[in-house]
Amino acid sequence: MNIVICGSTGSIGTSTLDVVRKSNGEIHVLGLSAHSNRARLEAQAHEFKVSNTVLSSEPDSEQALIDMVTGDSVDIVVMAIVGFAALKPTFAALKAGKRVAMANKEALVTCGELLVSMQDQFHGKIIPVDSEHNSLFQALQGHPIENVKKLWITGSGGPFRGLNRKALSQVTVDAALKHPKWKMGPKITIDSATLMNKGLEFIEARWLFKIDPSRIDCLIHPQSIVHGLVEFIDGTQLAHMAQPDMKSAISYSLYYPRRQKDAIRPLDLTEVGRLDFEPVDDSTFSCYRLARQALEQGGTQTTVLNAANEIAVEHFLNSRIDFLKISDVISQTLEIAPRYGLGIEAVFEIDAWARAKAAHYCGSH
Ligand code: NAD
Ligand code: MG
Repeated sequence: MNIVICGSTGSIGTSTLDVVRKSNGEIHVLGLSAHSNRARLEAQAHEFKVSNTVLSSEPDSEQALIDMVTGDSVDIVVMAIVGFAALKPTFAALKAGKRVAMANKEALVTCGELLVSMQDQFHGKIIPVDSEHNSLFQALQGHPIENVKKLWITGSGGPFRGLNRKALSQVTVDAALKHPKWKMGPKITIDSATLMNKGLEFIEARWLFKIDPSRIDCLIHPQSIVHGLVEFIDGTQLAHMAQPDMKSAISYSLYYPRRQKDAIRPLDLTEVGRLDFEPVDDSTFSCYRLARQALEQGGTQTTVLNAANEIAVEHFLNSRIDFLKISDVISQTLEIAPRYGLGIEAVFEIDAWARAKAAHYCGSH
């Protein structure tokens, strides 16, 4: 199979290349993109003998990236770019009828409804790579959606599980960057600390599985072994379990409907010992609540949520705002956002508007 990897220098991108290394020549990489790390991109291109590379911080790169993902011989586009920047190449890939192994979540949060309708119209296919959605996708194989009562996503609870708001007001960037279970890029690591990540995943699940939000729920599960559960109308549940290793989801998204031999280290449940579950504390971790509210409000409110979060997280990472200010900025931006119906032009317009407002609330303009 022929793949291109957008965002190949990041955490998901490099794990994807690990999966390719173990594929015994079955997976060919036709294209690679990165934002600004030219040296790493060139090293990857050299190792995997890739002639088509795009550095997206350079002028005229937008069209080059679109040409790369829509190329005739491309079978699968791995979308591992972080943030809203993934939206245009994802649209282009789906419009060209490609299979998109979708790690990026911000595009689905911003306008999942549009992406899914584009997938259906042009016979593309989004395979979720986000671990919870990938495990739900696996557990749902062969089960008609009419038999499903509820979808459960799990989350480790992040580095600050159990803290109260007073303690959260003091946390540092370094502490927020130390995730207990997953090694990921900085943006999603902060989202995991605020629990916005679970909020974004709630919205993702709504569109990926075309299921009413009242039938999605979330459990905190500190061991990160069960990644998703499908609850059926007969009262039973199917859980998907694996070591917390993104190569599991990446490999399945590439090999589907087959499986790659020895993709990850097998799970030994005697080694794990116990599995704990608890509800989400959404009064302490208000980002989770804000995400669910934005989805309920509909239209472009999830675009606003995503944009304000991207800006607030960037300011937090640069030590320009405190941890709890992240949710304040998002909440303030959502409150005054003009409400539009969802459409491609409205999404780009409101995204830019929300970024400017959120930057203002962060104190930078
Ligand atoms: P990362 O920061 O490690 O890597 C991001 C990649 O995107 C890099 O290759 C970078 O060069 C590129 N990039 C950054 N800004 C860009 C821009 N403006 N235009 C084009 N390319 C740009 O991030 P990551 O942890 O690999 O996450 C990638 C996406 O996958 C995110 O949306 C994240 O939420 C999602 N995701 C990641 C994980 C994980 O384990 N890392 C798990 C689930 C979902
Ligand atoms: Mg996830």
